[in-house]
Amino acid sequence: TTNINNDAQVSGTAIMGGTFDPVHNGHLRTAVEILDRFHYSSLKLVPCFQPVHKGRPSVTPEQRLEMTRLAISSDVRLGVDTREIQREGPSYSIDTLRDIRSEIGVSEPLIMVLGMDSFLSLPTWHDWQALIQYAHLLVVSRPGWEPDLISELSAFCENYRAGSPHELQCAPSGRVWFETLTPLGISSSMIRALARKNEAIAYLLPEPVQHYIEQHQLYR
Ligand code: ATP
Ligand code: MG
Repeated sequence: TTNINNDAQVSGTAIMGGTFDPVHNGHLRTAVEILDRFHYSSLKLVPCFQPVHKGRPSVTPEQRLEMTRLAISSDVRLGVDTREIQREGPSYSIDTLRDIRSEIGVSEPLIMVLGMDSFLSLPTWHDWQALIQYAHLLVVSRPGWEPDLISELSAFCENYRAGSPHELQCAPSGRVWFETLTPLGISSSMIRALARKNEAIAYLLPEPVQHYIEQHQLYR
C-alpha cells in the first residue's frame, strides 16, 4: 500500500464527489484511508445537486447534505463542500474543479478521488478530457469493478498515469493514480433497497446517519 511519507502533512486539496444518497462507510473508509496514505490535511465530500448520469436521488439535496454533515462530524479531517448544491442545476465536475482551482491558485495540488466504477464512466462526463488540467485523479478500487479500460481510457492513462504517488503531492494537477483500498462492498443503492424492505441498515453507515434515515422515514 501507498504510504508516501510518515511524518509531515502535505499541502493539497482532496475532494470526493458523490450523490451520497445516503453517505455510507464505503465513502468514509475511502476518505480516511486516502488521508492516512497520502497525508493531505483534509478531504471534503462534495454532494451533487443533480447527478448527471443517474436518475433523480430518492431524497432532497438538503437531506443528502444533512446526512453528509452528520457523517463527517466525527473526524476533524473530513469536511463537506456545498458548492454544487448551492449552484443548483446539473452538477458537472468540471465546473466544480474550475471553481476550486480558481480559489486555491495554480500551484496547489487538487486531488479528485473517485471509485473505479466512476472512473470507467469518465468518457461520458461533460468535458472529461479537461478534468486533468485542473486536478489529479485518484482512482480507488471498488469491489465488483475491474480496471477494464476501453481504448479511450487506456490512451488517457498512457498519457497521464503517474510513475509514483509522490507526483500527486508535487504537481498541481495532471496525473492519474490507482490505489487499492480495503474492499467494502457497500453501496447507497444497497442501503436504499434494505430500507425499502424494512431490513436493517446498521453497520453499513454511521449511526447518526442511520438514525436520521429512521427518524425521517427515508427510503421507505
Ligand atoms: P449508488 O449505489 O446510488 O450509485 P454509491 O454507493 O455508488 O451510490 P455515490 O455517491 O454514487 O455512491 O459514490 C460517490 C463516490 O464514491 C464514487 O466515486 C464511487 O465510486 C465511490 N464509492 C462509493 N462506494 C464505494 C465503495 N464501497 N468503495 C469505494 N468507492 C466507493
Ligand atoms: Mg454509484
